[in-house]
Amino acid sequence: MDDRELRQALGRLLGPQQAEIGCDECFEKLDRYVELEPAGADAGAAVSGFSAHLVGCPACREEYESLKAFVGGEQAL
Ligand SMILES: [Zn+2]
Repeated sequence: MDDRELRQALGRLLGPQQAEIGCDECFEKLDRYVELEPAGADAGAAVSGFSAHLVGCPACREEYESLKAFVGGEQAL
């Protein structure tokens, strides 16, 4: 899935009136989001604005990807 497809998928999930959060708030919610996601929870809804921010902010998305990889590695052990 490339970035454009991801954006479209997230746009469908989140709807147009999703408020975007700032990098600080995004960073605070990162842990929670990564925890919720593998549990099959609707992480996007639980952590409001987070997904929308990730789509528009490469820095936070990179942070999220590395944290997700880290958590995934932990669980695999
Ligand atoms: Zn950010």
